[in-house]
Amino acid sequence: MTTSMAATHAASKRLKDAIFGASAACAEAAKKHGADKVTNATMGVMMDDEGKLASIPTMERVFRSLSVEDYVRYAPIPGLPDYLEAVIDLTFADQKPEGYTAAIATAGGTGAIHHAVANYAERGDKVLTSDWFWGTYNVICNECGCQLTNYALFDENNNFNIAAYTAKVDEIMKTQDSLLVIINTPAHNPTGFSLTEEDWDKVLDLTKKYAAQGKKMSILVDIAYIDYAGEKNETRKFMKKFGNLPANIFVMFAFSMSKGYTAYGQRTGALVAVSSSEEVITEFKEINKYTSRATWSNINRGAMTLLAKISADKETLAQFEKERDEFYQMIQERGMLFMKEAKECGLNALPYKGGFFLSVPAKDPQAVCDKLHDDLIFAVPLKMGVRIAACSVSAAKMKGIAAKVLKALKAV
Ligand code: PLP
Repeated sequence: MTTSMAATHAASKRLKDAIFGASAACAEAAKKHGADKVTNATMGVMMDDEGKLASIPTMERVFRSLSVEDYVRYAPIPGLPDYLEAVIDLTFADQKPEGYTAAIATAGGTGAIHHAVANYAERGDKVLTSDWFWGTYNVICNECGCQLTNYALFDENNNFNIAAYTAKVDEIMKTQDSLLVIINTPAHNPTGFSLTEEDWDKVLDLTKKYAAQGKKMSILVDIAYIDYAGEKNETRKFMKKFGNLPANIFVMFAFSMSKGYTAYGQRTGALVAVSSSEEVITEFKEINKYTSRATWSNINRGAMTLLAKISADKETLAQFEKERDEFYQMIQERGMLFMKEAKECGLNALPYKGGFFLSVPAKDPQAVCDKLHDDLIFAVPLKMGVRIAACSVSAAKMKGIAAKVLKALKAV
């Protein structure tokens, strides 16, 4: 007889981590064959071309300059005021929509997603995201008593599938009075895809249609990779569209310091909100502060101070952004090299625009990944395909991978 002490609603929780298995196999191969022979395309952190963890120098310098007080004192539950103000500015740059805005500090982007689901999706309701998605969305929805459901992200031409999106929203709105949609753009994980301005117009038209019927429509834009997607104001242009929307359309952003500051383990982010209603924003601050108190209390003071300090000085910020941009260029070059080779050899890679990852659809992703081990390439098998980390594979090692993926696809 098996014994379970867990509460009935908790007993079946199991975290499946495809990335862990793949990276363990890679570590094993590196030991056997030498790290230089092995391509580790499993990692979600940025590595430089020498294979070392990439850290933005100004981040490192400012972080090391903080006092012990900055590191260890408690912070206010909603976050340090200077941090929150800076986060709002960084989220929107010059594309701030008309309306009221607010931010609350969270444990990374993950914490921001958690708070959005916990507070803006009814228990038992469906939360909508695309079929290519970051698996953690599912875990968070389950934990919050909601159910994640998907629409097909791509149409037959690998463009945003507005027809599939519309059909799914229509279906859900037959039974729900409210809906939370999670859209990870720009530079989506795991595909590197970004919605265009026109895609956003269509998404918002549909949202407005249901809002006009009295439904509560919330959109969470997960911008975890926005700083590796292109020029600051270009990548944020769509945000202007969120101004002057009806009060029953609520837009939030999951902001993260993990990638943008190369500060993954410091676990600092924010949930940022925009609304035409002051009441909605006041409520946002109250309910999320409550949820923070109930989950982690307050957030890493050192990391919040780091971000506020970088933002407080124009020159420091400019230097920081310049350094980060060099890393963006480095990843972009790797991603584009893969896409160029994919096109040349006829591999159907999904439309990578930027960010840490790119993906190739596969019927049996695990078998393709296993086959790639023959070439000492280690990638992550997802439900719908194989994910390759442009963030961690040097351009030299990226060369030739597309053809090897094609070979593996044909072999299984
Ligand atoms: N959103 C996506 C799509 C991600 O891939 C990640 C990190 O892997 C995050 C959000 C948030 O990461 P963190 O909680 O480290 O800020």
